Order: sequence, then C-alpha cells, then structure tokens
Amino acid sequence: MSKINANYLKLPGSYLFATIGKKVKDYTAANPEKKIIRLGIGDVSLPLAPVIAQEMSQASLELGASETFHGYPDYEGYDFLRAAIIENDYKARGVDIGSDEIFVNDGAKCDSADLGDIFSLACKVAVCDPVYPVYVDSNALAGRAGEFLTEKGYWSNLIYMPCTEANGFVPEYPKETPDLIYLCFPNNPTGGAITKEQLQGWVDYAKRVGAVIIFDAAYEAYISEPGLPHSIYECEGAKECAIEMRSFSKNAGFTGVRLGFTVVPKTLMCDGVSLNTLWMKHQETKFNGVSYVVQRAGAAVYTPEGKTQTAKQVAYYMKNAREIREGLKACGYTVYGGENAPYVWLKTPERMTSWEFFDYLLENANVVGTPGSGFGPHGEGFFRLTGFGSYENTKAALERIRSI
Ligand code: PLP
Repeated sequence: MSKINANYLKLPGSYLFATIGKKVKDYTAANPEKKIIRLGIGDVSLPLAPVIAQEMSQASLELGASETFHGYPDYEGYDFLRAAIIENDYKARGVDIGSDEIFVNDGAKCDSADLGDIFSLACKVAVCDPVYPVYVDSNALAGRAGEFLTEKGYWSNLIYMPCTEANGFVPEYPKETPDLIYLCFPNNPTGGAITKEQLQGWVDYAKRVGAVIIFDAAYEAYISEPGLPHSIYECEGAKECAIEMRSFSKNAGFTGVRLGFTVVPKTLMCDGVSLNTLWMKHQETKFNGVSYVVQRAGAAVYTPEGKTQTAKQVAYYMKNAREIREGLKACGYTVYGGENAPYVWLKTPERMTSWEFFDYLLENANVVGTPGSGFGPHGEGFFRLTGFGSYENTKAALERIRSI
C-alpha cells in the first residue's frame, strides 16, 4: 500500500498569508466603502523595464523560426547569461567565479528549498528567527527539522538564531554546532544588512566548525551603503564553505517571469565530495532548465540600458521604503530596515502583539502589513511593511497612519 510523506501533515501550512487574506476579506465585506492599501506585499508592482520586455519579444520571435529555434536549454543555463553574471555580479566586485560554478534556475525559492537534497538528513540546520519561511518548511518536509513544533513555535530539531534589536538583527553564533547555516542579507523580513566583517566572521566560523552556509542574496541590489558585501564570496575563504543564491525577482521585476541562479563553488567540499558535482547531478535529475526567452530577458538586465532601467525601479521602491521609514519615525515609531532593503521592520507600539497591531492598522487606517510573528517567535512585537507598492499608495498609507 502506498504511504504519504507524513512530514507534510506536520507542517501547519501558510497560515500567515491565509489569515491575512481572510481578515482583509472579512473587513472589506463589512466595510465595502473603505479603500484598503496593501503595504504587506512581497511582490513588485512596476512593469518589466522596456529593454527587458523588448528582448523577450525578440527572443520569442526567434523561437518561431527554424534557424533560430531553441529546444531544451542546458541544465546550468546558457553561456551568454552565465558570462553576463560572472562579469557583472562577480568580476566587477573582484570575485572570481567560474562559469561551471553557476546554475541558472527559475527563481531562488526552488533552490532555497531544494539545496537540502544534497545534504544528509542527519545534518543539524541553523536558521535565523525571524526568517524567510521556505528554509524552515523545506527542512521540515524533508524530515530534518524534527518531529514536532514546540510550544514556542520552534521545530524540535532545528537550531534557531534570534535576530533582535540587541544584536542589530544579525545573529550570534549558536551554542549548538550546526552543519548547515541559512543566512539571508539584506534580510527579509527585518530589512537588516550585514557588514563585511560580520559576514567574514560567519565564514570563518563555518570553516572552523565544518559547516556549509547557504547564503541568500536575493536583495543584494537594494544595498545602498558603501562597503556592505553584495556577495558572500567577497569574504576570504567563502568559496570553501558557502553556496550563494540570487534572484532576478526584486532587482528586475521577474517575480512573474521567474529567473535566478545559485553559485556552488567547485572548491566547496563536504564529506570529501565536491558539492558542485552533487548539485549538477541534482539539476540533471530534477530540472530541465530555464526557457531561452527568460534567459535572454535575464541577459538584458546586464546591458547598459537594462542596468539603468532596473536601477531606476530599485530606486523607486527604495524611495517608498524611505518614505515609510521616515514617516513612521516622525510619528514616534521605532523603525529598522528600509535603508539597504525594501523592507521596513517596525516595533509595534504600546506592547501590542504583531496581530493586534495588524488589526489596529487594518481597522483604523485601512492599511495592510505583515505581522512579524508570522516569520518566527522573535518577530513578535514587530510588523513588516514593504516598499513594493506604488508611491501614491505608500504616501497615502503614511498619511493615514499619521492621522491615527
Ligand atoms: N529569498 C528570499 C529571502 C525572498 O524573500 C524571496 C521572495 O520573496 C525569495 C528568496 C524567492 O525569490 P524568487 O522569486 O526568486 O523565487
């Protein structure tokens, strides 16, 4: 008789966004005249930059002619895209990455969930709290997170690293030694960044204890402070201990197009085996590449026009984030993030819980955000707003918050 993977039953499911959706729906049904502004969204709102849309059209036409038709792409991505990535994302920052160390994918989410496949189920996994939920949930589905969620909301077998005001939202090294460490900077949800020295510390720590870091740099394009690391490979020794994930979703509006890449250095060894070889095997087995049209769109991001046009979009979202940050500060809120990330992490006033503040904002300002507690127990008492809305809506939302 067939049997299910019972770990799927242990996972509570996307309680956070389902609950937000239900609350907003109920409120709208009871108050149809109220105009809701959503500042909780993680999706972008601007259309694709013109040069990218044009390149996609052109590439589509090529697929319609026999001389320029393309079938299955290479598992690792077309050479033209990997060359552009190496040149612009790495060489330009003094980092030497080989073409065979880059694996093009359809966005960072799948790889952030699937990288666990190449590691033993016995690996001890460390995650930040609060955290992008995919790292935790994918390990739970694999059976690596343990048997149950504790009362605190922690999986019994994961190592949680609190990110708090006290540590500036950069975790301390855990007491228990991990084998795998997920780090994401600039961070979703806290909007926090990591300095080069702090990241170097993590690289040195990982090498010392023999752990592998899975570094999520999906928000790298939002770094505005000079000197902050855009890639973990800017740190010495990282190519011996770290995998890096990147996404085109937030720097170029590819949330609906779907494109990203993962770097697995050839010098990264685990159990005497090259993880690059294992990941190639994973991709050959479970993946059939990213479409030609999408990879051409990705290459357009690195053209001079592409860089200018996408930088403008990032600046637009960051203007929103700044508006939120400064607007809230002027109202007396304690606010973090919004400087090197499109996320603003605010402390709920008067000891309200994250959900109490959600309700308060929804009912009194008709503004929707994301309760921090949905990202982990240490997110309790915080609230996430994003710069991904329109400027007009962002300004209007701030005006409403000010008025209450
Ligand atoms: N990593 C982080 C930290 C994210 O916040 C997101 C999306 O919101 C992703 C990865 C997934 O991005 P993608 O659209 O490339 O799958």
